[in-house]
Amino acid sequence: MEYKPTIGLEIHTELNTKSKMFCSCKNDPNEKRPNFNICEVCTAQPGTLPVANEEAIKKVIKAGLALNCKILKESKFDRKNYFYPDIPKGYQISQYDKPFCENGHLVVNGKKVGITRIHLEEDTGSSIHPDGAGFSLVNYNRAGVALMELVTEPDISSGQEAKSFAEELQLIFRYLGVSDADMEKGLMRVEVNISVSKTKKFGTKVEIKNLNSFRVVQKAIDFEIERQIKLLESGQRVVQETRGWHDKKEETFSQREKESAHDYRYFPEPDLPPMSFSEDYIEKIKSEILELPSEKRERFKTEYGLDEKSTEVFVVQKDFSEYFEKVASEVDEWIDQKDDKEIKSAIKLASNYLISDVLGILNGKEFKEESFKVTPENFAELILLIEEFI
Ligand code: ADP
Ligand code: ZN
Ligand code: MG
Repeated sequence: MEYKPTIGLEIHTELNTKSKMFCSCKNDPNEKRPNFNICEVCTAQPGTLPVANEEAIKKVIKAGLALNCKILKESKFDRKNYFYPDIPKGYQISQYDKPFCENGHLVVNGKKVGITRIHLEEDTGSSIHPDGAGFSLVNYNRAGVALMELVTEPDISSGQEAKSFAEELQLIFRYLGVSDADMEKGLMRVEVNISVSKTKKFGTKVEIKNLNSFRVVQKAIDFEIERQIKLLESGQRVVQETRGWHDKKEETFSQREKESAHDYRYFPEPDLPPMSFSEDYIEKIKSEILELPSEKRERFKTEYGLDEKSTEVFVVQKDFSEYFEKVASEVDEWIDQKDDKEIKSAIKLASNYLISDVLGILNGKEFKEESFKVTPENFAELILLIEEFI
């Protein structure tokens, strides 16, 4: 019998709210000046009190709705206590037993992955350890930034599946406009939990943190699956622990033993009231969800007759797909008198030119309509001249 890998993800995403989670400091991930966007609240000066950011709450509920979650009618914040220099209060305001969203799912490449919960918390500051120096530095610009945490069920079975799931999630967050969810910038951080077993009973899980790209998520999982199988095959056990990823050696390494919930002494946050949401409030947020990537995939295939590959090129680049749609609508207008087949063929040609030539020139850079000199109207005209329709 073969070993079956079991994988669950914990994904933290910084929301793109204007201000931080519990104070009015600016949320600016690009701020280079250390300790610039800080105040009494996010540096935990005595006597200060938090005020919850409603925009952040709405964004988490929006994400939950897009991911088929149940939105809890009643919710609250809790304190998660631990000591670390990047966490000024000595605790993090998070959500323990009443998160905003529970029990959702996302289907990626035909595979359904359960979403256990999505909750809201605050980000920590960042510590810097200058090379060779006998001290460390702390930057609190990130401290108190709204951070959404999503936890999946252990439904994933390979590195490839985990990578695809995380990529689709990033795309959904971008479509929803809740976060840029850039992994390289640390706006989205994926932690993986992995175990292997030959039976129905799950094996001991290991957590891997600090994975800074989708590629690394996949590699770290594949490495870890092999490592665990080798351990078990040689009669050893897997230790429950947190591991890191060594970029150069391309292997995981032990960091520390894993804390459990009781180590954090969770209790309800006394400085913030419990929250309740009306049906109308949730409906209103739902109505603000525009087209999701999966819906766009379907529509591009039926409406424009594009193949799967071209569709995907557009769907993963929202701006690019919007430009294409403008071109398609111009084409449609220009050749109103032609039949459907000719229109479709012109649209197909437009899609081919955009994908091969325009993306080719950009050479991996992101398409931005404002920096592209050709208007959708002119682009459509060019296509029609090529097709000799005008
Ligand atoms: P913990 O209390 O250690 O944080 P949780 O039950 O909250 O554990 O699960 C954390 C993550 O680990 C979830 O994504 C979950 O799906 C996943 N997970 C739980 N058990 C296993 C297992 N045996 N193997 C792999 N992943 C697991
Ligand atoms: Zn502040
Ligand atoms: Mg947990």
